[in-house]
Amino acid sequence: MERIQETLDGFLNWLEREGKSVICYGASAMAEEALREDRLASRVQYFVDSDTEKQGELVRLADRRFPVHSPAQLRQEDFSRTVLLITSGWFRTIMEELDHWPELAEAPCAAYPQLLIACAPDSEEFFRRRILDECLREYESVLENRGEPEPAQKWELLAEKRAYIQGNGPQDRPLVIPRVMILPTTRCNLRCKGCSSLLPLFERPVDLPAGQLIRDLDLFFRGVDQCIRLTIGGEPFLYPELVELLAYLRAQDKILGVLLITNSTIQPGGSVLELLKDPKFYVEVSDYGHIRQMSRTVAALESAGVRFSVLADQVWDDMGGVEPRGRTAEQQREVYCLCEQSRLMKSIHNGAVYTCARSARMRALACGYSSERDYFVLNEGEAIECLREKIRGLYYMDAADACDRCDLGQLPARKIPAGVQLVGHWERSAYTLVKRDEYEALKAAGKKK
Ligand code: SF4
Repeated sequence: MERIQETLDGFLNWLEREGKSVICYGASAMAEEALREDRLASRVQYFVDSDTEKQGELVRLADRRFPVHSPAQLRQEDFSRTVLLITSGWFRTIMEELDHWPELAEAPCAAYPQLLIACAPDSEEFFRRRILDECLREYESVLENRGEPEPAQKWELLAEKRAYIQGNGPQDRPLVIPRVMILPTTRCNLRCKGCSSLLPLFERPVDLPAGQLIRDLDLFFRGVDQCIRLTIGGEPFLYPELVELLAYLRAQDKILGVLLITNSTIQPGGSVLELLKDPKFYVEVSDYGHIRQMSRTVAALESAGVRFSVLADQVWDDMGGVEPRGRTAEQQREVYCLCEQSRLMKSIHNGAVYTCARSARMRALACGYSSERDYFVLNEGEAIECLREKIRGLYYMDAADACDRCDLGQLPARKIPAGVQLVGHWERSAYTLVKRDEYEALKAAGKKK
């Protein structure tokens, strides 16, 4: 096969210039992400996938339907007019295998993950894909979570936001960041296998004083023009000074939305619920199968008029342990560029700003990880321009040392069930808000509407 070495923009421009259509190999989550690109989706003829259950079916991806065939279909294809795009985490294995098919010797072929990695941090494409698009997606979620506005008004607001973030070009644009995470506590009442926050590894968990968190946020926001959404990680309802923190966040104009993620087993108190009623806040309730506690949490949120949703039947990506993997610099770059957290989960923790939440957690754990590029210490005396450059640096980097101790961006991803406990008896309820075996059917019916 003939490999296409391009960035995603370069690839899409080439498709248009040459008038090529596309066949995708792999009809799952990565395809969904790739097809968000309209210029690509409109050129896709069909998918091939080795999953026999998908073959012969129409799959729904990015709100369109595509036929799925067996990979053997590729042997019949005329590749003078089409190009093969691998949209699977197994792209290396697939390409190696197809290299042995003589019918595909001349076939032009690209792998979606490699198109993404090819983008340089000083390019406009990097800004557009990793900052602008992420900000707009976050902003759309913030608007939807608030339950407003009407669709026409939503597009208008998104267009306004796009124009604001783009500014007057690369030399003159505001520093708008898609999301940042704070970690007020390392305490948690659960001990989840594969916890992304590494909480079971903290032998002496601590709550950061709200005064310190607020001081860090004040220092950070001196250098940022707008943050579309802030996430409160850990188990926020265990944090004793949550009221002070929420009151501060509600008043901070540079933050447009605040997301709290709870394991659903701790009921928030009355003052917390009162603050959470503000449309700026949204709660995601993770359903790990503790149906009694979750029902109480859901009832408390519902009766207080808090905006929330329940995440049922989640599957996690296994991030692995904190030991070094011995990855080369190029492998670390690949892991970083393909990791969603590197775009969305920059983190502020205990007086420093980090390239991702995992980096912050590993430094707090004192597990032997340190880095000169992954984080910087917030400093009261720092000039604003200096601070902006440091923050910008964390959003415009393309590799991190932390990625030698984490598998989140590694392909193919390893999946694990969410919320399984390391210790103690754990029995997952057969019910979420409905009976679990009816849940998938209800979700599918909801999508068809
Ligand atoms: S360490 Fe790397 S792979 Fe892990 S979450 Fe951070 S950016 Fe992603």
